[in-house]
Amino acid sequence: MPRRLDFQNRVLRWFDNHGRHDLPWQKNVTPYRVWVSEIMLQQTQVATVIPYFDRFMASFPTVEALANASEDSVLHHWTGLGYYARARNLHAAAKVIVEKHGGLFPKTVEALESLKGIGRSTAGAIAALSMNVHAPILDGNVKRVLARHNAIEGWPEQTFVRNQLWEIASRLTPAKRVAHYTQAMMDLGATVCTRTNPLCETCPLADDCQARIRDLVKSIPGKKPKKTLPVRETALFIIVNPAGEVLLEKRPPSGIWGSLYSFPEAANPANPPDLGSAIRINAGSLRMLERLRHTFSHFHLDITPVVAHGEPVGAAAEPSRWLWYPLDGSVEVGLASPVEKIIRSLKVT
Ligand code: SF4
Repeated sequence: MPRRLDFQNRVLRWFDNHGRHDLPWQKNVTPYRVWVSEIMLQQTQVATVIPYFDRFMASFPTVEALANASEDSVLHHWTGLGYYARARNLHAAAKVIVEKHGGLFPKTVEALESLKGIGRSTAGAIAALSMNVHAPILDGNVKRVLARHNAIEGWPEQTFVRNQLWEIASRLTPAKRVAHYTQAMMDLGATVCTRTNPLCETCPLADDCQARIRDLVKSIPGKKPKKTLPVRETALFIIVNPAGEVLLEKRPPSGIWGSLYSFPEAANPANPPDLGSAIRINAGSLRMLERLRHTFSHFHLDITPVVAHGEPVGAAAEPSRWLWYPLDGSVEVGLASPVEKIIRSLKVT
């Protein structure tokens, strides 16, 4: 039997016996549900994604519902998942699918890739899993399996390594049962060929896995070259009004935490930001809380939270920018993740 067919058969047999068949997005499979799950699963574990996926589908059951939702509501459903550009892109792409494609997902990888936030692997996953299109994928799990099975060294994001992996993924992806094969490869990476301590003894690819045979499992895939991240500092002012609500400010659409709500920010924790004449801060009430660090992909942000008492004293100049947010979470807006963390801590103190 040609090596390619043998590989596919082993993967599919393993999937039939050990693959995951009950994930929420594997039920009632549609391109929309697969798309949302794939975007949520980028950088996030399955167990974390499941409750977010269920809540998202309950509120936005169709691509039309998502396209018609407010951005604040979409970001609210994403609060805590991180990488908020994913949610903004999802929302923008839903509008394009409704307005330009009549609510139907394009059927080719190329057309799917033209939508915001959908790269080649996500396009392949949507096409293969929900439309049975013969398309390869190369997400983090699949990269690890293929890199180890073929003993391809180097960091998989380097162009020459990635190109080799795409070539292998394309060659091995079968035309028949492509949805099962795609799910199987993702599952193998997530449950057997794990980052640390892979379960080689139960792996269907163990017999000819070059990394296992050559004792290279620990060093493949290669690590990203390390760089030291710079540290920036900021102070977030938690201004509490007499009703116990905290003041939030909607951030501009671009930059960090774009379109999310955050506490007003200032460079110096001793100097509250200028909030205009509509909000008065009681300067004597400033109290610094313990510093916390939030790490972005390109820098660390050291945050000093400062609690202060304040109150509205007139109509705000930009009412859409300011929000007195009740701590019971009854207002649906997207929160920057350190803000959510601070609000959670305020509720328990
Ligand atoms: S044998 Fe081990 S290293 Fe090789 S693909 Fe299987 S789990 Fe991964």
